[in-house]
Amino acid sequence: MATDILTGPTLLGTATRTRTYKNFIDGEWVEASTGDTFEDRNPADTRDVVGIFQKSGKADVDAAVDAAKRAFAKWRLVPAPRRAEIVYRAAEMLMERKEEYSRDMTREMGKILKETRGDVQEAIDTAYYMAGEGRRMFGPTTPSELPNKFAMAVRQPLGVCGMITPWNFPMAIPSWKLLPAIVCGNTCVIKPAQDTPLSTFNLARTLSDAGVPRGVINVVSGFGSDVGGPLLEHPDVRAISLTGSTAVGRIVGTTAAKSFKHCSLELGGKNPMIVLDDANLDLAIEGGLWGGFGTTGQRCTATSRIVVQKGIYGEFVERYVDRAKALRVGNGLDETTDMGPAINEAQLKTDLSYVEIGKSEGAKLKCGGNRLEGGEYQYGWFMEPTVFIDVDPKMRIAQEEIFGPVVSIIACEDLEDAIHIANNIEYGLSSSLYTKDVNKAFSAIRDLEAGITYINAPTIGAEVHLPFGGVKATGNGHREGGIGAIDFYSEWKSVYVDYSDRLQRAQIDRPE
Ligand code: NAD
Repeated sequence: MATDILTGPTLLGTATRTRTYKNFIDGEWVEASTGDTFEDRNPADTRDVVGIFQKSGKADVDAAVDAAKRAFAKWRLVPAPRRAEIVYRAAEMLMERKEEYSRDMTREMGKILKETRGDVQEAIDTAYYMAGEGRRMFGPTTPSELPNKFAMAVRQPLGVCGMITPWNFPMAIPSWKLLPAIVCGNTCVIKPAQDTPLSTFNLARTLSDAGVPRGVINVVSGFGSDVGGPLLEHPDVRAISLTGSTAVGRIVGTTAAKSFKHCSLELGGKNPMIVLDDANLDLAIEGGLWGGFGTTGQRCTATSRIVVQKGIYGEFVERYVDRAKALRVGNGLDETTDMGPAINEAQLKTDLSYVEIGKSEGAKLKCGGNRLEGGEYQYGWFMEPTVFIDVDPKMRIAQEEIFGPVVSIIACEDLEDAIHIANNIEYGLSSSLYTKDVNKAFSAIRDLEAGITYINAPTIGAEVHLPFGGVKATGNGHREGGIGAIDFYSEWKSVYVDYSDRLQRAQIDRPE
């Protein structure tokens, strides 16, 4: 990886060295045309500059798309099983680099090591899964209505695919996009989130080391409208895949529609976990803590609303709040830490502003709500795990995606009431129900308006071979993970082979 070594700012009194990372275009590491750069800082200790990255612009996107377009001419002709073998090799290499990349990720985005190891593992799982797809990519063969005629549909690549990713799963989410895309024979230009470019560079470097040819994967770092905008508008980009907020999804969806690009949008969530009177309470509390405060609540699938039936409401609240208070907040590199910092100052301010909103709406702040300062927290964006109780489902804290460690607990009468509360919202990503009653479980699976439903598990924990995505304002109907990704990154071509040696007309030539 072409990097310049610069002398960086001092960290804990010692001079550190900060790497400058360049864009990856056409197999070369190149500086941005703008001559500008930006810093990737550790949110647990902002004195730590993790890397300096290119602040790219339209000319860099144009160069990357051009390289991808040239590479497509050859890559589309490489047999899919051969393309997939390279992805398999990348999986093996990621296994070897897992610890290094997990540490890089914790440094650049703050989540605890246990979780960043999971993030890298998700990329590894996706690589193994998609490597297998290279030998499937099934399409239908089906009888023709005419004699001596053969009919089938084959998958074809789209061409250059543009990808725009968020910071909260900085290797897993790029892998969900890049790996199915290249197995299908496409070439890619990816713009990682400005808060976490390093993890995407680590993935791209591994794919390149594994043998992905030059130009097949290009990485252009920078800010949303500077890089994402030109990528969306580029006439040679045939597909756009965004994972991000619903607000940005609206911009991306409407812009991509103008040039009829395939467009996959994976957006925000406000995910309910329902706990019924008959639930295993220990399990539900454990799940609610993991779902609510894992990744500091910064998951699209975070358990941000817990809807608890009245019979166990008091006990659940008491035990849940006690456990939330006991979570250890700190630097994710410390193995004893339960919850890391917010990603940046703006997100921390948003989290704290929702504490004020919740209080002003009349919800009861049961624990947390404050920024953590001084000592080990002095240079980071830390906040206490925060729980509001007696939340009215119409309150803003129960309706809007906060994307922080703020959980709203809402009381409900029964399952019907709980499902009404769960569904009465703009989003529809994940959902969960704790019960021992199989009838109730299956009713909820049918009735919850969400792309994912867990029974007796929190709203987080997706596996890579199942469809991932949501309904309503969470997306536009596509799915990542599993076969849905292959569907998005390929286009059907129907093929008819007539071996009758005469003109046969469908619908017209019919037996008397
Ligand atoms: P964001 O929407 O702010 O940014 C996402 C990406 O879009 C970034 O790379 C950003 O630079 C880019 N972008 C911003 N403005 C743009 C523009 N005008 N044109 C083109 N690109 C633009 O989101 P974020 O803060 O990085 O991530 C958090 C959000 O992502 C949350 O809403 C979360 O729910 C969502 N998310 C969804 C999923 C899912 O699969 N549904 C997964 C993870 C995160």
